[in-house]
Amino acid sequence: MNEYRPTIGLEIHAELATDTKMFCSCRNDADEKRPNVNICPVCMAHPGTLPVINRSAVHKVLLVGTALGSRLATYSEFDRKNYFYPDIPKGYQISQYAYPLVKGGSLKNVEITRIHLEEDTARSQHQGGSSLVDYNRAGLPLMELVTEPVIHDAETASSFARELQLLLRYLGAGDANMEKGEMRVEANISVSKTSVFGTKVEVKNLNSFRAVERAIAYEIDRQIKALESGERILQETRGWDEGRQATFSQRKKESSEDYRYFPEPDLPKLSISEIKEFSNEALQKSLPVLPWERRNNYIYKLGLKEDDADMFVREVVLGGFFDKACAHTDLEGARLVANYISSDIAGKRDAGDLQDTWLMDDANAKRLASLISLIQKGVLSSRGAKDTLIHMFNCIEEPEEIANKQGLIQKSDEGFLKQVVIKVMSANPSVVADYKAGKEAALQFLVGQGMKESRGAANPTVLRDQFKRSIL
Ligand code: ADP
Ligand code: ZN
Ligand code: MG
Repeated sequence: MNEYRPTIGLEIHAELATDTKMFCSCRNDADEKRPNVNICPVCMAHPGTLPVINRSAVHKVLLVGTALGSRLATYSEFDRKNYFYPDIPKGYQISQYAYPLVKGGSLKNVEITRIHLEEDTARSQHQGGSSLVDYNRAGLPLMELVTEPVIHDAETASSFARELQLLLRYLGAGDANMEKGEMRVEANISVSKTSVFGTKVEVKNLNSFRAVERAIAYEIDRQIKALESGERILQETRGWDEGRQATFSQRKKESSEDYRYFPEPDLPKLSISEIKEFSNEALQKSLPVLPWERRNNYIYKLGLKEDDADMFVREVVLGGFFDKACAHTDLEGARLVANYISSDIAGKRDAGDLQDTWLMDDANAKRLASLISLIQKGVLSSRGAKDTLIHMFNCIEEPEEIANKQGLIQKSDEGFLKQVVIKVMSANPSVVADYKAGKEAALQFLVGQGMKESRGAANPTVLRDQFKRSIL
């Protein structure tokens, strides 16, 4: 029997972090709790008002397109998408249809169809028999990215969405918090046993990456079971019920004809190629280091573990701290720095015992680099370094000073080590004889005894040499 092959295409909406709304000068403030304060005659669709295009919103979408290696439109225009719902005051949404700002490009090897710009809808709240509408969100600049149907598993879909979120943050294009509804994912899913696509179902209301994964997995399973029992898959929109961990039918899908798209007569056409700040060169220049570039640098140039690299790319504060500490070390030092941050420091931070202000202080990054160089020079054991680090969180002293005061410095001086060696040798004559007879493991035992005798203060490398020289 042939296996069913799932196919997934994503439609992702993201609010853009501009100062003002898409077509008026109302504030774009996602944190405004009071309803209906950021509204004006334009976004409330009063007669006689005219929209004005937000230049910064266009710029942000073009920047995303540039980062994704897409083709940017030389010409673009807005369209009216007509439908009735209380969350769109005009009775239509200004969107883009035939001339999106961006086409093509890819992210994590998933091809992108298009990215266009539109306005967000109001937020409606249904409680009991009545509904409340907050228009603060109505008219916020909203980017919609559509992928080709080229994804075949749930994990790829959610990792695509995660990477897009990271990109938007790196570009300063949006905060893209899914819990806040700043980024919303819709997944189109079909299954088929042949090379012909099956009927797709659209799943909405996915407000976490986990929901994206679970809903897709659920839907694949549901469709296969339905087909196996001889049912047909209906083209429909389904919602995700977080409580039941299941998708449920919402409505039969509209086709684009139902929206009666037509060019927005109240807005000018955009000759993108004639606007200087929208030129490819200008956009390329304003790109920061991108998340995947930074990740690859960490992995391939510095040799960090993938998990550490990903943590530093994702966690701005930890990544910044790592970069600053690294500036004071060599390649081997960088890997040690990464280990100390991803284990000791991140752990303490996760537990709520370390403030970001400590991590944002350049002096602390430099002190961590000094600590690492003490390990590299054999002045501190890794145990001693960990103990020193604990003190570093609570004082501004240099690691060497701390280690000195705490008696953590490993002793390398001849006189001290000689005494230790003599003591251990006279207490273990048979082990010494074993080593003389060629038993390598015996040396390790003696070094261990020496460390014990010195209460961990001896530098094990130097101690080992001392034993070798004393015995042979
Ligand atoms: P519609 O006209 O219904 O909106 P589109 O062709 O615009 O459909 O595609 C919308 C989304 O659905 C895109 O992300 C696309 O990749 C995805 N898609 C299209 N066909 C399929 C399919 N058979 N299975 C899964 N996803 C699909
Ligand atoms: Zn307004
Ligand atoms: Mg479509």
